[in-house]
Amino acid sequence: MDAEAPPEQPERLLQPGHPLADRAANETLHGFEQAFRQRFERLVPVLKELHATQHALSFPERARELIAESLGFAAPAALLDDAWINGLDTRALYLHGIFELFEQVVNGYWAGRDDLVSEAERATAYFLDCDFHEVDISPCSDGRLLGLRRFILRLPDLAVRTRSHAGALFDVEEDVRYWTRRELLRFREGQPTTADVPSRYLKIAVYHFSSRDPAHEGCMAHGSNERDAADAALRQLRSFRQAIENTFCCGASVDTLLIGVDTDTDAIKLHVPDGETRMSLYRYVDTAVLYRQTRELPEQEASLRVYQALQQAIAQQGWGRGKGEPHEGMLRLITRLLLNNLSQLDYVARYHDGRYADGGHRERLILVGHEVEEMQVRNFAYFAHLETLEEGGPGLDVGVEKIFRKLNTERGLPIPVVVHYRYDRHVPGSRERVEKRCRRIRRVILERYRELVDQGLLGCHMVIRDKQSGSQLERLAA
Ligand SMILES: [Zn+2]
Repeated sequence: MDAEAPPEQPERLLQPGHPLADRAANETLHGFEQAFRQRFERLVPVLKELHATQHALSFPERARELIAESLGFAAPAALLDDAWINGLDTRALYLHGIFELFEQVVNGYWAGRDDLVSEAERATAYFLDCDFHEVDISPCSDGRLLGLRRFILRLPDLAVRTRSHAGALFDVEEDVRYWTRRELLRFREGQPTTADVPSRYLKIAVYHFSSRDPAHEGCMAHGSNERDAADAALRQLRSFRQAIENTFCCGASVDTLLIGVDTDTDAIKLHVPDGETRMSLYRYVDTAVLYRQTRELPEQEASLRVYQALQQAIAQQGWGRGKGEPHEGMLRLITRLLLNNLSQLDYVARYHDGRYADGGHRERLILVGHEVEEMQVRNFAYFAHLETLEEGGPGLDVGVEKIFRKLNTERGLPIPVVVHYRYDRHVPGSRERVEKRCRRIRRVILERYRELVDQGLLGCHMVIRDKQSGSQLERLAA
């Protein structure tokens, strides 16, 4: 048998029409996804047309018009005016186009979305109802998890913190510092609960795998091995909890949750914590199985089956055996996550034929620095959360060397890198410091990948903005 051939594909994995799916939400999400994709899809055809017509006398004028009309931005004059000398620099134009479109989708995201704040408030109230005052998610940087919050788990934009790291190997020290800040807010301002309320901090780590081609399309940071990816994420969660318990005594602790995502279908493996909040790689609910078992049931019966699936996981014997059931709030939250994901599976069944056609990587750009919550469409960007390049460098290398080499540079297409950081306009000097940092990071990136940069195969764009959600990007000139 040929080891390289992907395993046989069953006709269609998931059928649409699940009784528990939120169809109205699915329609809204589909509209959002379509608009997002269409915007980027116009770029390459326009570049091809420009390339084909670059020798015409009136080229610069016609090019300007075509770009403005079809893509909605202005191209650098020199690029078009000088095309007659050495030919049109399509690589530079491609980079410019991706950066412009990126700014368009980010800046346009909040228009007409006044509902976001109330949506977040409702979610925060719901989390508190589940005894959590903070939900903090660390997924892998892989672009196929970009839709994690909005699509796969259906959590509101502003209610949860998300930080992506290659292989879900989040920075324990940095996250302990964040936890400390959140606890301090509870003490000083009673936000979102006062310190005497026994609510908890929830840390979620998200690894991923591929059901269609497990040996090749899993997590790059873990050699495409699902077990390694899950095990590493679970260890990281344990280290995080240990760090907090050891640093802050007096019963300081956090709840943790491990979730695996099948990047072909968006189905999740939700690892159910036991009564001592511990998880096992062998104790989980698989929503792909649950979806198939419940799709043809009446609504009430389907709900009951979701509950039963959880109880079965909790009562599991053998390797995955745990000690008792999780606390009531956790049980409520994970039930909600399972239901939310069933809606997503219905979405994938309805709009993507039950499984994504782009099983592999199709990212358009690499985002470095702070999260961009507006980019939540699957496979659009590789996210490298980065505080310093010493720590974040290896994660960035996975993106540049492993993912984009095949996607872009081997074909001669450049890698667009966007450096994005936030400042706090209430803090004097914050903007200047962040601007400096942005420039420093850009310099180091250009240095690190000098060979690619010299061939025009990597370009770096800088943007900063105020840390408040909904603020517009401010472009920094190189
Ligand atoms: Zn990964």
